Amino acid sequence: MKLATKFIHAGMEPDPSTGAIMTPIYQTSTYVQEAPGVNKGYEYARSQNPTRFALEQALAQIENGRYGLAFSSGVAATDAVLKLLVPGDEVIAGNDMYGGTYRLFTKVFEKFGIRFLFIDLADLDAVQAAVSAKTKLIWLETPTNPLMNIGDIAAISAIAKTANALLCVDNTFASPYLQNPLDLGADIVMHSSTKYLGGHSDVIQGALIMNNTGLRDQLYFIQKSCGAVPGPMDCFLVLRGIKTLHLRMQRHCENGAKIAHWLRNHPKVGKVFWCGFEDHPGYAVARKQMRNFGGMMSFELKDDSLEAAKKVLSSTHLFSLAESLGGVESLINHPASMTHASIPREERIKNGLSDSLIRLSVGVEDADDLIEDLAMAIG
Ligand SMILES: *Cc1c(COP(=O)(O)O)cnc(C)c1O
Repeated sequence: MKLATKFIHAGMEPDPSTGAIMTPIYQTSTYVQEAPGVNKGYEYARSQNPTRFALEQALAQIENGRYGLAFSSGVAATDAVLKLLVPGDEVIAGNDMYGGTYRLFTKVFEKFGIRFLFIDLADLDAVQAAVSAKTKLIWLETPTNPLMNIGDIAAISAIAKTANALLCVDNTFASPYLQNPLDLGADIVMHSSTKYLGGHSDVIQGALIMNNTGLRDQLYFIQKSCGAVPGPMDCFLVLRGIKTLHLRMQRHCENGAKIAHWLRNHPKVGKVFWCGFEDHPGYAVARKQMRNFGGMMSFELKDDSLEAAKKVLSSTHLFSLAESLGGVESLINHPASMTHASIPREERIKNGLSDSLIRLSVGVEDADDLIEDLAMAIG
């Protein structure tokens, strides 16, 4: 099935009791049982909810996986994956990634005896050198947030398999429209559904998708035991968002390409980080594993002072100054003080995330209007 058809029909079954074409919002905490232990497969809504199940089926289908699980946020989904581990286990993760994931790893899980190695996952020799008998999980974000580095999913999956470690890919930036990590050998795909899947900046939610039944059973057990489940209304919103993912992503990609090239030719703009440039170090891998390059990018000004960056950040009108990404409206963000403030400055600078870096989530408005807004702000 082609992508557009899949996104619209994923998880869609007419409601069995009424035929309603849209999945109803089953706003209930419990289900009446006919006799003790005799029920319709629904006992308590932390474990089972029809709206959530419809979404979980849709998540599986759009990532070409067998199973989907929805969580109350992206970090709750990540948290569930980390709970597969035991003290003494090691995790290899990228040295450029979402600040909240870094915070969860270092501030919550390190104290339970899990060890984290943060390396450049674009460097396959470094990945090979970092794995050991203790490595149980490789956490790969690609493209990375905010520097748009690319990790080779198939190659890293091969390394993970020889090391008997799981590979989990945070596919939030690409979305299933651009990239399907399970097809490339990943064991688990993670999403912050808050971003492109929801697509309208109106919900916080996360997802995990996998093929292995044993892994699904373990993660379902964690989901119901730890309880970070999304409510039915939020599941409905993400189901609705998924139906237009392909339409939105097409425009995100078109606008992203226009704006990245425009920025690169601007006399006051320094480095532009976007994986669709032919001279981007990850371009060949991006071409191989992604269908297009998306609307996320970051850039520096030639005047690399914090002052100059702050002026741009507070001068746009269409680009709203806010954390988050992937909604229909364009956002501008200052990673050093906003999304990535939880990463120590020294660590950030070492990995190329400067104080003056500006990140854009290019929305689906008219590209000419967006360019005019940036032109005015950059001056
Ligand atoms: C936002 C984000 C997360 C965290 O998801 P929440 O829904 O905010 O909990 C994880 N990874 C990436 C790449 C993100 O952008």
